[in-house]
Amino acid sequence: VAVEPRFRAALADLLGAGGVLDDPADLEKYETGWRYGKGKALLAVRPATTAQVSRVLALCRERGLRVLPQGANTGLVGASVPDGGGRMVVLSLERLNRRLAIDVLDRTVRVDAGVLLSTLNQALAEHGLTFPVDLSADPQIGGMVAANTGGGRLLRYGDVRHNLLGLEVVLADGTVLDTLTALRKNNTGLDLKHLFTGTSGVFGVVTGAVLQAAPLPRQRAAALVGLRRGEAGLELLRALEHGLSELLTAFEVMSAQALEPVFRGPAALRSPFGQAPPPPYTALVELATTLPEAVLDLPGLLEEALGRHLEAHGDDLADVLVAPPESLWAIRHHISESLRGEGRVLAFDLAVPRSRLPAFTEAVKAALGAEYPCFRVCDFGHWGDGGTHLNLVWDEAAAPLPAAELVPRVQRRVYDLAVLDFGGSYSAEHGVGPHNQACFDRYASAAHKAAGAALKALFDPDGLLGTVRLW
Ligand SMILES: Cc1cc2nc3c(=O)[nH]c(=O)nc-3n(C[C@H](O)[C@H](O)[C@H](O)COP(=O)(O)OP(=O)(O)OC[C@H]3O[C@@H](n4cnc5c(N)ncnc54)[C@H](O)[C@@H]3O)c2cc1C
Repeated sequence: VAVEPRFRAALADLLGAGGVLDDPADLEKYETGWRYGKGKALLAVRPATTAQVSRVLALCRERGLRVLPQGANTGLVGASVPDGGGRMVVLSLERLNRRLAIDVLDRTVRVDAGVLLSTLNQALAEHGLTFPVDLSADPQIGGMVAANTGGGRLLRYGDVRHNLLGLEVVLADGTVLDTLTALRKNNTGLDLKHLFTGTSGVFGVVTGAVLQAAPLPRQRAAALVGLRRGEAGLELLRALEHGLSELLTAFEVMSAQALEPVFRGPAALRSPFGQAPPPPYTALVELATTLPEAVLDLPGLLEEALGRHLEAHGDDLADVLVAPPESLWAIRHHISESLRGEGRVLAFDLAVPRSRLPAFTEAVKAALGAEYPCFRVCDFGHWGDGGTHLNLVWDEAAAPLPAAELVPRVQRRVYDLAVLDFGGSYSAEHGVGPHNQACFDRYASAAHKAAGAALKALFDPDGLLGTVRLW
């Protein structure tokens, strides 16, 4: 599709050098999702100020052009790339990254949407602070708001929503909606920022945020705990929450099927279990504190707590290994990539009430084992908050049906189990995008969809923003 010359000229005047990209080679990275999604853009624009975002949206609206807000493009549901029609404008926030103002006394930070999480945390660390939503990618703050990112330490700090105080959003007609308050207490009715949090940019473009920062821990301690059965993980979690309360920052659980490939795949990390195979489940437990070692011996405390648990529940525990946190997180963070070396992977990002995680996994195994034994269930995830990245690894040659038929059937089976039978979520933390749009369509109630449609009509009546349908 050709770009109208007057439109291109108006954008170039507004955004200056490097502000408008339409060369196919330049566009490719804006058109390709990290895991899912490959689209075609009309062009990509890179505004550097909120006023420029507002003007870009107004110019697009005058021509009826649809716009896809894009952050660092690390999203995992295909929502961060345009559709295949070649008529969407990608609005990248990567140059809107100048403001980063820390208020140490308030323990807050005002930040532009395009600032990367790593940049924010570097700046905060100089003041003994951190933005605690932690993950193994480096997204933009605006993308994190639009996806309401969760991450490995949600158990202690919550998701983005829990740490968001104020927001600046530009609506589809160019109106700037400023709710950039730094107040923690502000009980004055409708809290509009939540409508733009976790809604994939379909109601407005996030241009700035005020976040609350957390004190940067001075110490972390971590351990792997081998578990003979899934339920033992839940007992350990309860004991640690009871005994160590807010010191507990992460509680991840990895099945043997998810772990083994990390030690034999391309990463080939050294197994902490030596030559022995990993136990059925392994918990990664992390504690953190702002107190210095002289005041609190954190590794000692962790060893003591795990030792006590081992004495009481020795039959259920296979092994306990306290080690530097980075080495244990490296194992956890290599799982997804290692599984991809084992065959085709059908990945799910699910949540159920955490007490039901072992039963849910067994139900999936039973349901698939009977009909589709070609799938290996490789589950791991944020058990502390009920999240499981249930990955099915399979060998296409051994499958009873071609992938195009098999995948939707298996997805339907697993999603139905999670949502309908276990009261869970088809998207624990990655949000909604073309990858799981069918789930939204299937599981959201009519009343929920009607509310979404009313909001879309209010904020973006011409339906110009994003590719996701939340109604
Ligand atoms: C290795 C890896 C590990 C990950 N781990 C986790 C994890 O543990 N937990 C987790 O929750 N996620 C995780 N993710 C997913 C991803 O990193 C998050 O969803 C991230 O917050 C997306 O931010 P982004 O800047 O990359 O946004 P993008 O991917 O560019 O966009 C995501 C969505 O937000 C919209 N959007 C982006 N910027 C804006 C804006 N300024 N205004 C309005 N809408 C916007 C896009 O249109 C799209 O719908 C992981 C991803 C990778 C690759």
